[in-house]
Amino acid sequence: MSEQGMNPLAAEIAAMIAQDGPMSVESYMGLCLSHPVHGYYMTRDPLGADGDFVTSPEISQMFGELLGLWAAETWRLIGAPQPARLVELGPGRGTLMADALRAARAAPDFYRELSVTMVETSPALKARQQRALESAERTVEWAERVEQVPPGPAIILANEFFDALPARHYVKTAEGWRERQVGLAADKLTFGAAAAIEPYLTVEAPAGAVLEVGAVGQRIMMTLAARIAAQGGALLLVDYGHSETRLGETLQAMRDHAFVDPLEDPGQADLTTHIDFAGLARAAKAAGARVHGPVTQGFFLRQIGIVQRAQALMRNASAEQREEVEKSLARLISEAKDTDMGRLFKAMAITQRSVEALPGFVEDVEA
Ligand code: SAH
Repeated sequence: MSEQGMNPLAAEIAAMIAQDGPMSVESYMGLCLSHPVHGYYMTRDPLGADGDFVTSPEISQMFGELLGLWAAETWRLIGAPQPARLVELGPGRGTLMADALRAARAAPDFYRELSVTMVETSPALKARQQRALESAERTVEWAERVEQVPPGPAIILANEFFDALPARHYVKTAEGWRERQVGLAADKLTFGAAAAIEPYLTVEAPAGAVLEVGAVGQRIMMTLAARIAAQGGALLLVDYGHSETRLGETLQAMRDHAFVDPLEDPGQADLTTHIDFAGLARAAKAAGARVHGPVTQGFFLRQIGIVQRAQALMRNASAEQREEVEKSLARLISEAKDTDMGRLFKAMAITQRSVEALPGFVEDVEA
């Protein structure tokens, strides 16, 4: 087998396949994103205009500020437990948390004894987050896994975290469902299907249909929902995806703000899948928590006051700054097209059972 022309991670994956046979899409995605040396997130800061994609907190400070105020409000709804703990999963550049902490000063009860935990696997992004939070007045700690977050009631934020977790694919054949795999053909990585049938998968579908299962995300959701049900708290998850479980695969690779082939140049593009919100909601309920939403990002942000925040920012701004605020507001909440962030992105929250109505998810909540 020639490994010429392959990048180092592709060569390593090819060698693994040559040795052990084809690997699951889940393993492939995991290696591409989190390989300790060549993994996409491990080596770089992929965000922003110079990177591969832009996220809501990078579009406008309003996003993190409003999530900070939402966290304070939600903390009050769960009985204002002291000390307050704010957690973020996959915090990217740390922009969301920096903006959230700044805004949370307006809620002194929440802010006074607040501890922050950032859950991040990437050393490169952890360093970036440390810089962003250098002047934070609150204790900030880092953890690599959700299981390492100190116990107790917690308000947990996750923007574009679940989409970055590896997913499994199954393909329907005449004989039944088979796991979709990455193998080698003519020295190139290629998709195929496992020889074995998965007898426990009984979903009806025509031959050729693909079923996508975010098993890693499901497990993390079960862990967090069980923790929230037992110890109190809330999880806010904002991500792109669909409200109903459905057939079809959504694996996508993004590089330099454009879609590329997920098997081309592994580790050099951001690999994600869309979130199955209904599946995550079932996992959370099974673990004993209450689910709010999903609602569109546009609805959520409007309900928690983004329009008023934008107006406040524009009041003391130059004409140029006003235009910038208006543009980013439209980008975050517009729901005109399916692909607009305000509609493609959804917000869903998991809380302890006692919380019946949550800001952002209902028409109006009594404060
Ligand atoms: N929330 C940020 C960044 C989204 S990118 C924003 O909105 O801008 C995805 C983030 O999740 C990155 O910080 C990445 O390093 C992190 N990540 C990916 N897989 C992870 C895992 N298994 N555990 C913890 N963090 C992870």
